[in-house]
Amino acid sequence: MRITIVPYFPLAAPAGARLAEGLAGLFDCAADLAAFAPPPARQPPSGQCAARVFLDDLRDRRSQRSAAGAVLLGVTDADLGAKRMNFVFGEADRDARVAVVSLHRLGSAGGTEAEPGRIIQDRLLKEAVHECGHVADLDHCEDPRCVMHFSSAVADTDYKGPGFCAACQKKLAQYGHGTG
Ligand SMILES: [Zn+2]
Ligand SMILES: [Zn+2]
Repeated sequence: MRITIVPYFPLAAPAGARLAEGLAGLFDCAADLAAFAPPPARQPPSGQCAARVFLDDLRDRRSQRSAAGAVLLGVTDADLGAKRMNFVFGEADRDARVAVVSLHRLGSAGGTEAEPGRIIQDRLLKEAVHECGHVADLDHCEDPRCVMHFSSAVADTDYKGPGFCAACQKKLAQYGHGTG
């Protein structure tokens, strides 16, 4: 597995590098940061945007890129919506092997949107690991400390760690084995 982060806003290089490092460590894979990507044309200038719009954009990007094998992870500051949800921190498409996470609902404690503070960066990493975990075939986990536990609020995200519980780690290893 390889992960390429696609920033849909000018995420500061240190924050992007830290996210890539965190993902590489937790998935035991290579992770890199692509250049800033213009947000999908259909993204409304204000208000909520369907996460699906970003997932479709990432899927289109893959067909244009030579980096066909990587999991593409979009990072946005847009407020993401999904069916039957008021908002989502992120969403994944397992078949297309793409995922998107948003900073929008992760709070504003310290730093700026482009260069978020440490707490926000930690939350972003957890939600990014969670969505990439879905791409790697992991489902939601009942262990509230496991990164695959579903977060409905920032407090849930703060409670869980960026890492996988033993059961999820085992499933992840099987996925890695199957795809090389
Ligand atoms: Zn989830
Ligand atoms: Zn778990």
